[in-house]
Amino acid sequence: MVIIVLMNTNDIYSFVKYGDPCLDFINSKVWNTRVKPFADLFIDYEHIVNWFRHLGILSDEALEHQLELATKHPIETQAAVEKIIKLRDVNYRILTSLAHQEMPPVTDLEILNQYLDEAMEHRQVVLTPNGIHWVWVNKDVSLDWILWPITHATAELLTSERSLRIRECNGCYWMFTDTSRNGLRRWCDMKTCGNRAKAHRHYERAKSTKLEK
Ligand SMILES: [Zn+2]
Repeated sequence: MVIIVLMNTNDIYSFVKYGDPCLDFINSKVWNTRVKPFADLFIDYEHIVNWFRHLGILSDEALEHQLELATKHPIETQAAVEKIIKLRDVNYRILTSLAHQEMPPVTDLEILNQYLDEAMEHRQVVLTPNGIHWVWVNKDVSLDWILWPITHATAELLTSERSLRIRECNGCYWMFTDTSRNGLRRWCDMKTCGNRAKAHRHYERAKSTKLEK
């Protein structure tokens, strides 16, 4: 039996761009068809594991290992891709509901719980030179274990106060957590989407003043 001790979930928070690993996970796809160009970074298993490495969930070594495993098991790999994308769809529906102050679909919460059941089976504490840490232990060398830290992060976000701060950007429709003091941030990033909106408003105002003259 092979046992791989995976990195601590807390480590992945230092890599995230949108305030939470599960929001980065959702933002791997452009959901709103109005946004051009349409993009989905999860083209195939290789792209997916590369994305997870980028987030810090996978080391270079683990990535190589996953890809090797994928070549040997094409059918299981396809199933893993579908499972990963299914969780992303479920997370998207749950989190956009919260961002719009709506009730999340109960069926989606049930599916999330199935993923959580599977993930938590692999949670253990181990002794390291820096003390005792939570880790994920993969006993069966599966192709979809990369979902465990994401599933766990989703449950943590949903049950925390930060769930009240989940937003969908008014410009690019990406999800983010609003860390502003007043909680009224509408843009994922003031430098990009916020500025674009400001420039657009300025343009509209200039146009209407011109018309009035
Ligand atoms: Zn944006």
